[in-house]
Amino acid sequence: MILHLKNNITEAEVNQIAEAHEGLQFFDAKRWVVVTSSSQKKPLKEWEHHIEEYFETETDIQLAGKKYLNQTRSVKWNSIEIGGNGFSTAMMAGPCAVENESQIMESAEFIASLGIKTFRAGAFKPRTSPYTFQGLGLKGLELLDKVRNKYGLSIITEIKNLSHAQQVLDVADIIQIGAKAMYDVSVLELCGASQKPVLIKRGFGTTLQEFVQAAEFVLCKGNPNVILCERGIRTFETKTRFTFDLCGAAYLKYHTNLPVVLDPSHAMGYSYGVPDLAKASMAFGCDGILIEVHPNPAKAKSDASQQLDFATFKKLMNDLQIIGGAVGKKLV
Ligand code: PEP
Ligand code: MN
Repeated sequence: MILHLKNNITEAEVNQIAEAHEGLQFFDAKRWVVVTSSSQKKPLKEWEHHIEEYFETETDIQLAGKKYLNQTRSVKWNSIEIGGNGFSTAMMAGPCAVENESQIMESAEFIASLGIKTFRAGAFKPRTSPYTFQGLGLKGLELLDKVRNKYGLSIITEIKNLSHAQQVLDVADIIQIGAKAMYDVSVLELCGASQKPVLIKRGFGTTLQEFVQAAEFVLCKGNPNVILCERGIRTFETKTRFTFDLCGAAYLKYHTNLPVVLDPSHAMGYSYGVPDLAKASMAFGCDGILIEVHPNPAKAKSDASQQLDFATFKKLMNDLQIIGGAVGKKLV
């Protein structure tokens, strides 16, 4: 249950109301909000005079649910806005990782030359093996800052764990929380204390309920700027890296109030399938598409098999614009 409290209330009273309902409280820029377990259906009688409005929720999809807010939230960074009116699909493109200065600058120059505004690349890479490239770390963040200053691109980059979370928050325009880090409540809570957009990737063994609950950890700390990203889940199939769960994405689009971004690159794992899946994503009407692009994919230090080369990506951008026109979406 979600309670909107009346404005003429003291913080001490807010705390008492939260405690009495065994819930937690945050200020959402307009009012105090108390969120309780979904098993509670009605506010307690003795506090009714402080309650403006309340919302029953069936499951622990609460602040993220359409029962609470029956429209997609608008999320903004620099000149870009997604969600809200629903007409924009943001392209988030760039290499898997920042590898060195020339690779990242060459990538950024190419992405900017296509009119794309949002550049992706990881400085802290959550790798499966400890013996592979783990990212440039803080040096990578410095290079991303340089990219922003030189090309005016917005930066989306990932927090792998708490050790560097504040540094990423300082540099990124959008924080990415990866498929593995999405269970790290301390990272989610820290992002909740910021107002920066946070893109949460679905873990590959994560149910839709658990995925949205990760978003709830950010939302209930007072950051409404949360984006969900489907990037493939693990099934019995091994011919592709993961299985792109468009059914899950349709569920999220219908049942939640959060913008949905699709990531065909990590789902497919092989560059040959990425353009087709990206086109399907555009036709799907998602709020953003995340694609890995590299100046020389064969030489990439991570995710080499799935990154698109420049020529393929350029052609894809053209196709996506055409598909966007057909489904009433503008690529931004
Ligand atoms: C990435 O975006 O490069 C990445 C590591 O993604 P995921 O967390 O989805 O594996
Ligand atoms: Mn990657």
